[in-house]
Amino acid sequence: MLVLEYKVKGKPSQYRAIEEAIKTVQFVRNKCIRYWMDAPKETKIDGFILNKYSTKLRSEFLFVKNLNSMAVQSSAERAWVAISRFYNNCKSKKPGEKGYPRFQKHNRSVEYKTSGWKLHPTKRRITFTDKKGIGELKLLGKWDIHTCGGATSHIKRVRLLRRADGYYCQFVVNVAQSEIVEATQSAIGLDVGLESFYTDSNGHQEANPRFLRKAESSLKHAQRRIYKKQKGKNGRLKARKRFAKKHLKVTRQRNEHAKRLARNVCRSNDLVAYEDLSVSNLVKNHCLAKSINDASWYLFRQWIEYFAGKYGRKVVAVKPHYTSQKCSQCGRIVKKSLSVRTHICQCGCRLNRDENAAINILNLALQATGGHPGRNAVGVGVTTLVGATLPEQILTLSTESPVF
Ligand SMILES: [Zn+2]
Repeated sequence: MLVLEYKVKGKPSQYRAIEEAIKTVQFVRNKCIRYWMDAPKETKIDGFILNKYSTKLRSEFLFVKNLNSMAVQSSAERAWVAISRFYNNCKSKKPGEKGYPRFQKHNRSVEYKTSGWKLHPTKRRITFTDKKGIGELKLLGKWDIHTCGGATSHIKRVRLLRRADGYYCQFVVNVAQSEIVEATQSAIGLDVGLESFYTDSNGHQEANPRFLRKAESSLKHAQRRIYKKQKGKNGRLKARKRFAKKHLKVTRQRNEHAKRLARNVCRSNDLVAYEDLSVSNLVKNHCLAKSINDASWYLFRQWIEYFAGKYGRKVVAVKPHYTSQKCSQCGRIVKKSLSVRTHICQCGCRLNRDENAAINILNLALQATGGHPGRNAVGVGVTTLVGATLPEQILTLSTESPVF
């Protein structure tokens, strides 16, 4: 699945209609959650029942009826995603919060499936045909939907969403993109650290992009300005908007950066190995510098998986145990604290700490795959959870999950 995103242009009245649709989605989703909460214990609620309930809502409320029926369905599915995630977390006895479904207050998107919209023959305009009155919107942006075939049958979903700087239209397109590239006979291990974006098993250290460091302080500044303004006042709203715009800009820069690096790595290696870092741990981190880094890394990893699929490369995620402590030459465990930046072993091995880890990661991956960086269209041991995208992440590459 590939997501193409366009900014849309319309009249203020059309934007209001989009907001209306977004609110309706939230209403249906929250109603479904309420329905599930209030249901007696013996009735088993599932996606199918919620779907039926959403149809009932259509007959009860005119504003729900005005939204395309499949879009209403899709809203009920959102509720079910939240509920079943909670069930799964309980069943698997996930430590910590189980994610009891909450009522949504700040929904930002509405999702249509295969009906309720019509693409103009030139594909530069889209018309929403349900009774929400959104009408015809102009599509801006450089992507051309033509490149994905002439027909519109490959478009599985269409989403309208609000971002800090306006409204966007996303097309979820079903294309198995692939490009034949030659085998390189090389494999690479990547280690993430705080001081550099990554260190690879060949000793190359990719520096953290300067824009991130700059953006970090500018973001902090913008955030502090929100709290200086009085709650409920216009100034605070403005400060929040400024912060959101800056944030969006950083998100985009970060995405472009991750994409570029991932493409390079996948083009020049048949096998890419990295540590399997747990997503929930990454998100929980409160240290800002670290969390920015983690978000970038997670994004980078998603792009690696994407390009690996595209170029037919193998991706291996290895367990991060002892990768920094073990000597990559002789296998001895050499204990060192985080501040020790060089790995020195009695066997004579002397390496940068992260490079040593990257080599260990690569070795583990080669062991797991039988030693050959062969070609494989689907990554082995790829464990990024479907739908576990970071909330602030821009979804140019995305899974099938709806944007919440
Ligand atoms: Zn050694």
